[in-house]
Parts: sequence; C-alpha cells; structure tokens
Amino acid sequence: MVVAIDGPAGTGKSSVSRGLARGLGARFLDTGAMYRMVTLAVMRAGVDPEDPEAVGDVASTVELSVGYDPDTSSFFLAGEDVSAQIRGDDVTRNVSAVSAVPSVRTRLVDIQRAMAEGPGDIVVEGRDIGTVVFPDAPVKIFLTASPETRAQRRNAQNIAAGLADNYEGVLADVRRRDHLDSTRLVSPLRPASDAVVVDTSDMTEAQVIDHLVDLVKQRTGAMS
Ligand code: C5P
Repeated sequence: MVVAIDGPAGTGKSSVSRGLARGLGARFLDTGAMYRMVTLAVMRAGVDPEDPEAVGDVASTVELSVGYDPDTSSFFLAGEDVSAQIRGDDVTRNVSAVSAVPSVRTRLVDIQRAMAEGPGDIVVEGRDIGTVVFPDAPVKIFLTASPETRAQRRNAQNIAAGLADNYEGVLADVRRRDHLDSTRLVSPLRPASDAVVVDTSDMTEAQVIDHLVDLVKQRTGAMS
C-alpha cells in the first residue's frame, strides 16, 4: 500500500512523513530529495538550471541511490553520500527550475514507481504524489499551514542549525517557491481531489503524526 503525502515546504511534511512511516512500520521515500540530487548534479556539471535541454541531459544519465529507512538519510549520487549537500542554499535556490523540466519529472517518476514496488507499505512524500505519481493510492494526505507559520518553523530550524535569524528572507523564499511550484505547467502543486487536507498551523508534530496514523488505520481498516 502507498500512502501519498503532499504539500508545500515548511508544513513539517518530512518529519511527519518519517514519523508516520515509523508508526506504520512502513518504508519511506523522500521525492524532494531526488529533485535536489538532480539539481546538485546539474550544478556540478556547470549546466544552467534554466536550460531545460541541458538539464534533461544531466537527468537522463544521473545515477541516484536512495534509501527507504525513515530513521536515516541515505542519498547517494554516483556512489557519493550527498545528504548534506542537497540541503544547501544553492540547491534550494535552483531546485524549482530543475523540477519544472518535464524530462526530469518523467525520469524521477519512473524511478519512484519502481521503488514503491516491493515488500510492505510505503509512505511517499512530495508535491505530486497523490495527483501524478500514485493517483490510485488508497490514502492521500495534503498538508498545509499558513506561509507565516511555515516561515517561522523554517527560520527556527535555520537558527538551531547555526544560520542567521532571517524571518523576512525565509518568508519571501517560502512565497517564491509556493508560487513557482503551484503555477508550473507540469505537475503543479495542488491537492488531489480525493486527498484529506490537514492544516498543521496549530498542531505539534506529534499531534499531526498521531492524527495521520489514525487516519491511515481508519482508511485501510475500512478497505479490508
Ligand atoms: O520537499 P523539498 O522541499 O525537499 O523539495 C524540493 C523541491 O523539489 C520542491 O520545491 C519542488 O520544486 C520539487 N519537488 C517536486 N516534486 C516532488 C517533490 C519535490 O517538484 N514530488
């Protein structure tokens, strides 16, 4: 069974998806990390992220290996562990442009579908999981939160990681990425018509995870 979790940055999607996978004893797949890995490969190849053809060429040959364990981050680009590098500012700045290239999406969606096969359940998180990658997933969740809440959370994470306190800058980046991700022509960010929308603005991470575990159990209990 696939549990699809979509939503914009800063909704707590990654931690919540990992927590949900742990709670269900399921495998976990972070598709945003895969777009980040292609972006890193594009930058390392000296290719302009705004040049779709050259970006597509890099994506067609890039060698990705991604782990399923919700407790560890395992992202390898041609055998090199790039877990830290894919979270850098340069990658974050360029990932929306790279992920808007149709051939990049086709390649990654193929890999994501192949990875979801195999034993047991899997929680897959991203932007287009319920709409495009797994339109038949039995449980689809779309996480939201106000831009201000999301910027506050991201800024607090940055401060905890030793980066500068820059709420206004983070808010501007949240809005910029929302706009790019929701207005792009291919697979724009939006809830699937049958997704359960959960607003996490006034919930703690633990509350969201409990709520989602209940929701998945209800849905899958009703199916069996
Ligand atoms: O989830 P994360 O913030 O790491 O995703 C980085 C970027 O990858 C997003 O801003 C979006 O542009 C892209 N993405 C996507 N489709 C997905 C997952 C991520 O386009 N399924």
